[in-house]
Amino acid sequence: MFAKIFGELKAALSLRSLKIRIFAIILIAGVIPSILMRGAIVNNYEEHAVNNRISMVQNQLLVVSNHLLNNNYLVTYKSDEAVYRNSRAVIDAELEMISNLYEGRVMIIDSSLKVIKDTYGISDGKTIISEEVIRCLRGENTNYYDQEHGFIEMTTPIIDASAADKEGKNNGKIVGVMLTSISNSSIVETMETLNRKSMVIEQLMIVVMVGFALVLSVVLTKPFARVTDAINEVKAGYSDEAISVPDYTETAHIVDAFNQLLKQMKVLDNSRQEFVANVSHELKTPMASVKVLADSLLMQENAPAELYREFMEDIVSEIDRESRIITDLLALVKMDKKVQDLNIASLNINDLTELILKRLRPIARKRDVEVVFESMRPVVAEVDEVKMTLIMTNLVENSIKYNKEHGWVKVELDADHQFFTFRVSDSGVGIPEDELSHIYERFYRVDKSHSREIGGTGLGLAITRSAVLMHRGSITVTSVEGEGSCFTVRIPLTYIAS
Ligand code: ADP
Repeated sequence: MFAKIFGELKAALSLRSLKIRIFAIILIAGVIPSILMRGAIVNNYEEHAVNNRISMVQNQLLVVSNHLLNNNYLVTYKSDEAVYRNSRAVIDAELEMISNLYEGRVMIIDSSLKVIKDTYGISDGKTIISEEVIRCLRGENTNYYDQEHGFIEMTTPIIDASAADKEGKNNGKIVGVMLTSISNSSIVETMETLNRKSMVIEQLMIVVMVGFALVLSVVLTKPFARVTDAINEVKAGYSDEAISVPDYTETAHIVDAFNQLLKQMKVLDNSRQEFVANVSHELKTPMASVKVLADSLLMQENAPAELYREFMEDIVSEIDRESRIITDLLALVKMDKKVQDLNIASLNINDLTELILKRLRPIARKRDVEVVFESMRPVVAEVDEVKMTLIMTNLVENSIKYNKEHGWVKVELDADHQFFTFRVSDSGVGIPEDELSHIYERFYRVDKSHSREIGGTGLGLAITRSAVLMHRGSITVTSVEGEGSCFTVRIPLTYIAS
């Protein structure tokens, strides 16, 4: 239990879990845009609000600047005459109102950089050396937003339009500058409220996204859990049916591959069961004969010695048969082993064929079968001598066994630059066409009783085929019932290790 939780936690931390990946992707995809959006909205608002504020104040200052010029404020600011005093008071009140309204300070500066009016009343009469003012006097407009210290500074030229020429080339003369700095506190306040509100929305969004990601990551990975469950059911042995999880193309592919594997395993299992049944049957038959023979001897009291002798000979031949089956089975099992211990060496195939035929000729002679050997060229190939001997012996022996009296067996050897061909043809009983595909099966015999009579186990061709395949070769057969058969083996001259 702990190991499972620990395993899942480890997988989650290493991001190997699909569920965690989906969760993380949805969360990131949902939350990051909302954070970026909040930043963009707040920043955008700030820029917009500052520009708005500047143009609003500039407009009002422009009105004041017209009043200033109309009342000759710049010239008469020192005059004590009642008429000027009154008009000055009006303009001062206007300036005062602007500075109060925007929590700022307005300074009127004339062209000689002297401060004529400061709404703070600190710099009246002083000379101001400021880059912005000088640039404004030159006709450039400078606005500056100091976010850190929380103010906006702007310069507004006071333009005497009467100096404008008629062609419109000159718009007027800059006779002074209004240097205004206003607080950005109201903008900041609005921004903070905006930020607070969007933060709440963002937090809500994160909660919703976490929930959404959690649900989706579970729902989207469910089919994979179903695949695992279905496979586990099969593994536990509760079911051996083909499974089906068609939710995604991916799960369908996994399940398809698994079903194919299951099918292959079933075929394998069936053939294993069949093989075991066949082996038991084959091994039981000689034993049963031995028992019958021994029992009948035991049942007869005072049985003559000749009868004993005769029965004992039969018993020995049954034991020989049993031993032959076991030898063949062992040979077959050895071939079936995946780690095949082939003893590859360069071998003269002509010599090997001659040797095998020499060994088999006595059997052929017994049945009056003539064995001929035709070699087209000397063949030297990289093969396993023991297995090659098995291949050749089995094929030639079969051709002798399943032949007619006074028949013939022809062995041919040929080679091209890549393969050598070993062909055995005979004038034997032949194999019916519909049986041809079965002759390589273990324990398969065309004529069971005849085959047993002549000592066949039904394993010879299965062993031969395995040995040929181990050499990466091929075996083919053509046969006409009652006329004869022809087996052809093709094996590469040089062994190709896999
Ligand atoms: P067995 O030990 O019975 O000979 P094999 O595996 O060598 O088993 O052969 C399988 C069957 O194929 C044999 O029982 C026989 O009926 C048939 N067979 C094999 N070789 C020949 C042949 N040259 N001519 C006719 N039938 C053959």
